[in-house]
Order: sequence, then C-alpha cells, then structure tokens
Amino acid sequence: MSDPNELTVLNPATEEIVATVPAASEEDVAAAVVRAVRAQRTWAAVAPADRARLLRRFADVVDAHAEELARLEVREAGHTLGNARWEAGNARDLLLYAAGGAERLLGRQIPAPGGWDVTFHEPLGVVGVIAPWNFPMPIAAWGSFPALAAGNAVVLKPAEATPLTALRLAALALEAGLPEHLFQVLPGYGTTAGRALVDHPDVAKIVFTGSTRTGREVMERCARLVKPVTLELGGKSPNVVFADADLTAALDPFSFLDNCGQDCCARTRVLVQESVLDEARDVLADALAAVVVGDPADEKTRMGPLISARQRERVRSYVPDDAPALRGSAPDGPGFWFPPTVLTAERPDSRAAREEIFGPVAVLLPFTDEQDAVRLANDTPYGLSGSVWTKDLGRALRVSQAVRAGNLSVNSHSSVRYWTPFGGFKQSGLGRELGPDALTAFTETKNVFISTEGPAQ
Ligand code: NDP
Repeated sequence: MSDPNELTVLNPATEEIVATVPAASEEDVAAAVVRAVRAQRTWAAVAPADRARLLRRFADVVDAHAEELARLEVREAGHTLGNARWEAGNARDLLLYAAGGAERLLGRQIPAPGGWDVTFHEPLGVVGVIAPWNFPMPIAAWGSFPALAAGNAVVLKPAEATPLTALRLAALALEAGLPEHLFQVLPGYGTTAGRALVDHPDVAKIVFTGSTRTGREVMERCARLVKPVTLELGGKSPNVVFADADLTAALDPFSFLDNCGQDCCARTRVLVQESVLDEARDVLADALAAVVVGDPADEKTRMGPLISARQRERVRSYVPDDAPALRGSAPDGPGFWFPPTVLTAERPDSRAAREEIFGPVAVLLPFTDEQDAVRLANDTPYGLSGSVWTKDLGRALRVSQAVRAGNLSVNSHSSVRYWTPFGGFKQSGLGRELGPDALTAFTETKNVFISTEGPAQ
C-alpha cells in the first residue's frame, strides 16, 4: 500500500530507495495556485528582455549542474548516463530557445477601415503541467519553460515515481534568480494532486503527458471548466522499411529500445517489405544480441531497466514465454529488467501489435507494396511518430504524406528537437509542444481596434 502522504522513489536498477518525498494534498495544490497567481502578476509585468535574461541565467545554472541532474535521472528513472546527459542538455537548450521567444512574441497589425487593428499575445496566467515518469526532466521542461517565457507561472506535478529532477530544476530556478513561486514543483499522486490541479478554477491551462486513458479523463475534467489542454499521449508508431532501404540503419533496434522502450515515439511496429523479411530478421537478431543491457550508470550500457515492477508485469503480459521472438539478454537479480524482444509471428490485430506496451518489445509485420505499407502504418488509433526507409524519393514523400502521424522521419529515426513542433494525430494527443510556436500555446490572442477617426466637428 502506498502512503498517501509520502512518495518513495526507487532506483529501478537496484530496487533501493533513493529518496522519500512528501506528497502534496489537494490543500497544498490550492495554496500553491494562490502563490502562483500572485507571482504571475509580477512576472507578466517584467519587460520581455528582462524575462529572457533571467531565463538565460537559469539555463547557465542548469548547465553548471548538468552532470548532477543527469546522474539524478539515472538513479530515479534508470536512464542510461548518455541519455540522461542529453536530457539535461535538452532542458538547458530549451531554456535558451524559449528565452529568445519571450523577445519575439509578436502580434500582428491587420488592416481595418477607420483605425488600426493590432493583436497581442497575452499570458494565460497559471499553467498546470502534469508529467510522466518516462522522461521526467525533458517533459517537465517542454511543458514549463515556454509557458514561463510567455509570462505565465507554472505549477508542475511530476510522476509519483520520478519527482527528483523536477524538484531540482525548481531549486535551480530560484538559484538563478527567478521570482519565488513562479515555477513550483508539487510531487504527489495523480488522483489527488493531479486532479486538484486539473480542477482548480485558477489554473488556466493543463499540459498533460501520459497515457491515453488518463489523458481522456484530464480532457473531460478540463471540459467542465472550458479549460484549454495540451495532451501528449501514447503511440504505436510504425517503422516502414522498403526492400531498397539500408537495412542495418533502418532496423537500428534503438528505434524501439531507447529508454528501454518507454518512449511514446518508439517505432514498435516494424513493417518490412516481405521480399527482405528473412534478411531483416537476421539483421534484427544480430542487433538485439549486441545490445548491452545493465547498470545505467556505466558509460558502456545502452539499455537500462524498466521503471517499476508493475511496468515489468505489464510488459511481460504481452510476451508469453513460448511466443516466437528474437530475444537479447538482460541481467538477473534486483532491478526491473526485461530483455530486448521482437515478436515475429504476431497478427496485425493482436494485442501486442495494437496496444502501447511501453517496454523493449516490438512486433515484426510484413507488407507487400506501398499501398499495403500505408494501410498497415495507419491501422492504429495512435498517430504520434514513425519512420519511412527507402532510397526512392518520390515514394518517401508519398508515404510521409499518407501516414497520419505528427512526427515522421525519412531515412532517420529522429523525432524530437526543441526547435521543431512535437505532438500527435488521432488518440496520440491534442496540440503541439516545442518549435517556433511553443510560446503562443501559452497565450490568449487579444485583438484591439484603435479608431483614428477624429472627434466629430
Ligand atoms: P498516467 O497517464 O496515469 O500518468 C501520467 C501522469 O498523470 C503522472 O504524473 C500521474 O501521476 C498523473 N495522473 C494519473 N492519474 C491522474 C488523474 N486522474 N488526473 C491527473 N493526473 C493524473 O501513466 P501511468 O504512469 O499510469 O503509465 C501507464 C501507461 O501509460 C504506461 O504503461 C504507458 O503505456 C503509458 N504512458 C505513456 C506515456 C507517454 O509519454 N505517452 C508516459 C507515461 C505512461 P502518478 O504518477 O501519481 O500516477
């Protein structure tokens, strides 16, 4: 039974307790929102260039603590050190990018008879950010930093399993000189602190990242208050590999093994043209065998553990021991380990082929031709990301236009850059984060018409 007043943070690689943290109650959330409302009024009055200067200073402090943040992420989330270093750098870089946005939050001047018409982007007020455990630091940053740059205050609820890097970021913000209570982190349970944030009338917007099931509930609760919401939800993304592709690059297993597969963009449906299916199977078998799974703090490790015993049970439920599969290896003993796995005899309508597993497990599915590939790629309620591998440029363009997903890459497995928009089609979400429009998602557009008519003669 979990303690309603306390969160216990476990190291997923050892099952040892890393920290215990007080869990915020509904009253704590309400008090934090009152403080945030006050802090936001002052912040919105700060000149954009000064806001930008403070955020750049925050970036410098994050940079100075990047290694510490990365090692904390390794301990609380089991991320490999290499990934965690990238994540700390991502938080720093997004701060710098968002800081520039504060100075470029431009309105428009629209021709109108009898006067001037101008638009302004005004901050919303207090923004509530609810983050998951799979990328605790970057996702906290993506929701919070553009919101701050646009003149809002932020109250962030991290996942109960991974509150530590978010708490550290909030402390570093203060150290950098950001006003008190502008960026508050309230660790707590989703069903208490999370719901309280969603239901609070003075929280002007919710940014939620997590499962589609919880996202649906968040959206329903926001609807009661007509509260805007950004949802970054699940995925079951396709990796479409045509016979003419560079198979070794196309079948890089880190397209679905990165972060032990706990990645909403993981390309977990490996769609391979049937004429090269046997070759693809061989490439994948060799690649899985070479994956170094183990202590995430070791620089040589490429894949760490799953986040929790519960998550491992969930992943296991998709992989019966006798399922035809290619398998890598994983450590025994303490830690929530699961071997890299590719299921090779799933039907496209099987549970493993349709549901987000959120573990190091992909399914291999053959297709016949381009039309069949597009049909299979789109045969999912999700639409977050995907890859297309072919040397035929025309086909690459046709397929990337036909696949209904928010983030596609051609002859590449990349998904996320802080300067390009990120988000999903269909049940993968609503709205976009990051990219050049990140700040405007945290503003209301105000239109003001100024009459140039003189006083009546
Ligand atoms: P959830 O969607 O339940 O959790 C995400 C965040 O929402 C956490 O901070 C959580 O708090 C909070 N939360 C939970 N319930 C509510 C609520 N009713 N109101 C407001 N906030 C709430 O994900 P789970 O951790 O339960 O993971 C389950 C599955 O979801 C995974 O196996 C995976 O398939 C998917 N998932 C997908 C993610 C993605 O990025 N697409 C990220 C995480 C999970 P708390 O931690 O206390 O539960």
